[in-house]
Formats: sequence, C-alpha cells, structure tokens
Amino acid sequence: MGMISSESGPGTTFMGVNREKIPWWPTIDLNRCDGCNGEYDCIKFCPHRVYRPRENPPRVDVENRYNCVVFCQACKKMCPKDAIFFPLKADILNLIKTERAK
Ligand code: SF4
Ligand code: SF4
Repeated sequence: MGMISSESGPGTTFMGVNREKIPWWPTIDLNRCDGCNGEYDCIKFCPHRVYRPRENPPRVDVENRYNCVVFCQACKKMCPKDAIFFPLKADILNLIKTERAK
C-alpha cells in the first residue's frame, strides 16, 4: 500500500461502477500549456499523480488517467493558460447510468 490514499484509481469504483469504465480525466492542450515555465502548477496542485512533467520544452502529460477523481476539475480552474479540458459531466453521468443498468 502506498503512503497516499486515494479515493480513485484503477480497481476502485465510483457510484458502483468500475473506475476503468468511466472516461473522466483531463486532456491537455499542448499548444497552450507552457509547463508554467517549469513550475508545473497542476502537478504540484493535484495529489493524485495523474500528470507527468515533460522537459525541453516544459509540458504536461496525463500518465495515470484513472487516478483522476471523477467530476473533479480543480486543476482546470487554476491553470493560468486555460490548457486543461474535461468531458461534459452530463455525458459521463449518462454513461454511468447505462453501466449501472447493465
Ligand atoms: S497548470 Fe496549465 S500551463 Fe501549467 S503545467 Fe499545468 S496545464 Fe500546463
Ligand atoms: S481534476 Fe482533480 S483529481 Fe483530476 S487531475 Fe485535476 S486536480 Fe487532479
């Protein structure tokens, strides 16, 4: 077990649905992201190890998509370049309902 507990990630469930069946994670517009000039604000901000830094030039990749907490968008709000995007919550809710009905 890791030191950091997480309510998300592979092997967990959300609303009774396997996390890996829920396509909720951030997408980075690499034309907008500048890695916060090497400061990587989103990586420092999020405790769930979703992101991985890239260097030369500094950018951010999504490495552990299922670690992202379903319906969290906290990092999007603090990105100074408006480079972080998420799916529509209504679409994902519908998908979850469909999975639950199976
Ligand atoms: S906060 Fe925005 S600009 Fe900064 S590293 Fe993350 S995605 Fe890139
Ligand atoms: S949405 Fe929340 S959990 Fe997902 S990467 Fe951003 S801050 Fe982390």
